[in-house]
Amino acid sequence: MDSSEGQSALVAEPPSKESSKVTAFRYCYFQGIKDNQWNDWRWQLRNKFTTIGSISSIIQLSDDEILAMEDLSTSGRLAANITPYYLSLISPDDARQPLRRTVIPSLEEFRNCKDEYEDPLHEDNDSPVPGIVHRYDDRVLMLVSGHCASNCRYCTRSRLVGAHKINHIATEQQLIAAINYISGNCKIRDVLISGGDPLLLDNNALKRILEKLRAIEHIEIIRIGTKVPAVLPQRITPNLVDILKKFHPLFMSLHFTHPDECTFECAKACSRLADAGIPLGSQTVLLSGINDSVKIMTSLMHKLLMMRVRPYYLYQCDPVFGTTHFRTPIEKGIEIIAGMRGFTSGYAVPTFVIDAPGGGGKIPLQQNYVVSSDRCGVELKNFRGGIYHYP
Ligand SMILES: *Cc1c(COP(=O)(O)O)cnc(C)c1O
Repeated sequence: MDSSEGQSALVAEPPSKESSKVTAFRYCYFQGIKDNQWNDWRWQLRNKFTTIGSISSIIQLSDDEILAMEDLSTSGRLAANITPYYLSLISPDDARQPLRRTVIPSLEEFRNCKDEYEDPLHEDNDSPVPGIVHRYDDRVLMLVSGHCASNCRYCTRSRLVGAHKINHIATEQQLIAAINYISGNCKIRDVLISGGDPLLLDNNALKRILEKLRAIEHIEIIRIGTKVPAVLPQRITPNLVDILKKFHPLFMSLHFTHPDECTFECAKACSRLADAGIPLGSQTVLLSGINDSVKIMTSLMHKLLMMRVRPYYLYQCDPVFGTTHFRTPIEKGIEIIAGMRGFTSGYAVPTFVIDAPGGGGKIPLQQNYVVSSDRCGVELKNFRGGIYHYP
């Protein structure tokens, strides 16, 4: 039990309290559930909301949402899947609320669009062995889990998230093959562990993977990509961080969508990770009507910095099946970054990228700050539109 573990004297934890939304939600729907159950990540996973019946006992689902959930259950597409904690942040009566739209299915997902694909980034083509995506010479993506604490409706890997879809490392044999692949390629110096969500593995499974990677001499850094601090902060236990900090240099990329995710619980989880010396970066998908304004994006990035998370990437929404309604024009991302650069801390500004369909990798986009250049120098435009000459 995490609660009985001795806490490090150096780590000052905030007093134990919780977000008011969470408190109200627990009072309404989980009155008999004690703190040690609610705060146990396994309890959260055991009590996930996945069916129309359970979700509609709390959320007033619209006809559209109900029909979408009925269709999903027969189509084999990405299931609805929400932790009780994350559900507590969702509006019960406003179907347009940003967080609600990211996890509750809608009929718009069934719209057919000719330029959408099951695997737009051609990850399966770049996969030499199951669970490895090798696109860049010096680093690989390692998909260790096919499950997430909560499913995002715009998921890039919806093809492999769910019960029986196994393009990830699912067996001991596959893990050994993946490790052998990495140890046989001495150019690889950086391994990015992702999924699904790697933090849904239990501590022992995670530790074994980290040990095997650290035993490879040419591996310099290890990264973990996860959405757990936002959707299941209870998973970030003292036990987990004690394991993670033995594998430095270990970085984490945390998936965030909207400032509403930056709760007390989430801040506490990030604080534990940062106190363990883990550099934290963020990844955010730009989503129409959810976070596609300078104001919301700046607010999210400011909240992340307050939690010691350094904004890393802002992604154009990948053309995955059923995501048309989430996609913004490319200009929108460029405009948002231009509205942040210079107007707030440079640390708050992520890099806007398109992960090129077809497997071209991440391509950065920003407005052009070079107006012209000749033998005498360059004409540069600053963030306010002023023109400056550099000789
Ligand atoms: C995103 C990604 C990486 C890591 O890219 P960085 O720009 O180094 O963060 C590595 N491999 C694949 C296949 C990726 O999609």
